[in-house]
Amino acid sequence: MVEKTIPFTKNFIEKIISKYPTPFHIYDEKGIRNTAKKLNSAFSWNKGFKEYFAVKALPNPYILKILKEENFGTDCSSLPELILSEKVEITGENIMFTSNDTPYNEFKKAYKLGAIINLDDITHIEILEKEAGIPNIISFRYNPGSIKTGNAIIGKPEESKYGLTKKQMFEAYKIMKEKNVKRFGIHTMVASNELNPDYFIETADMLIDLIIEIYRELKIKFEFMNIGGGIGIPYKPEDNEVDIEYVSQNIEKIYNKKIKNSPLDSLKIYMENGRMITGPHGYLITKVIHKKNTYRNYIGVDANMANLMRPAIYGAYHHITVLGKEKLPCDNVYDVVGSLCENNDKFAINRKLPEIEIGDILVIHDTGAHGHAMGFNYNGKLRSAELLLKENGDVQLIRRAETIEDYFATLDFSNL
Ligand SMILES: *Cc1c(COP(=O)(O)O)cnc(C)c1O
Repeated sequence: MVEKTIPFTKNFIEKIISKYPTPFHIYDEKGIRNTAKKLNSAFSWNKGFKEYFAVKALPNPYILKILKEENFGTDCSSLPELILSEKVEITGENIMFTSNDTPYNEFKKAYKLGAIINLDDITHIEILEKEAGIPNIISFRYNPGSIKTGNAIIGKPEESKYGLTKKQMFEAYKIMKEKNVKRFGIHTMVASNELNPDYFIETADMLIDLIIEIYRELKIKFEFMNIGGGIGIPYKPEDNEVDIEYVSQNIEKIYNKKIKNSPLDSLKIYMENGRMITGPHGYLITKVIHKKNTYRNYIGVDANMANLMRPAIYGAYHHITVLGKEKLPCDNVYDVVGSLCENNDKFAINRKLPEIEIGDILVIHDTGAHGHAMGFNYNGKLRSAELLLKENGDVQLIRRAETIEDYFATLDFSNL
């Protein structure tokens, strides 16, 4: 059980709206920093522990700058994400480049930046060598196949397009050793939005076993293991938060048992969470513009699925608070909808909420990861602004809203 709270009052939001019209996402710097510190502190037993924030979750330079100050690196999987990292001066081995079906020029950029390149396929060895060169540190992404079960968002590992098979892992490291690579890492990411803490402990255990096996066969000493991201967050009030201390302590136990005081000791643990870091600290603020009673009771808001696609694509639950009505009984049942011409443009279905009037402000919770970032322009929809609620209480515009001019920017009407 978690309490779905908000770090601001109705008055405060009304003041912000008078300057920045709805809809917008607002991110809570203090919350983000606290979560970042919590993760770092949980893993402080491991010298060299590092979190590489998954840029795709919240690709905003102001957020990346905050995370850089918390000693995070970035996990990038595309050219724009690499450039974004570079813009906030996160470079070199503070970047992990984990891509799949990789466009060749992206290898070039990652190599130039000195990023740790994490290859998704054995055939990429040759392409990387030809396009960029063999870097001095290399990592491969492991897909455990049927050994591990996946979950709804990422799918079953054996049906997932990512990573190398176990047999290919041995082969790939052998090739890289022959190419004179001296530094090695290993990576896997087998779940997304997973709330079971044991899942991450089992993943670490599985990777440690593989590290030992590869060491025995190839005499490769790994510098790091990246156990991926995918730690879930309690979107629903009845969900529980993943106890990161518990995860870390149990990984430490396995580490101590299997590799402490062995030649593999000094293995650094890396993670690449997105959702867990920023997800709970973002809020989509939207105004009610329409009420409609037909076969169901609809609340129409000025945001739509282009601002937050998760409910539409995964049927994901996002908690909703009606500002100023927090204490009223939830004795109405509504579908909360946007204006996009797809019937899945619904932020909530059959949701119990207090009686809502036109003009009410709704706070849609947990939009700090995979929220604004998934935005699109289908149906002429524009992406909203992003605001930062700073630690000192100031509000900063960290991305303006798109305009009609942005929408038409790629069209040349003069050749019509
Ligand atoms: C999306 C992604 C992540 C982050 O996932 P979260 O669920 O946001 O933690 C990390 N690593 C890779 C390779 C990803 O594709």
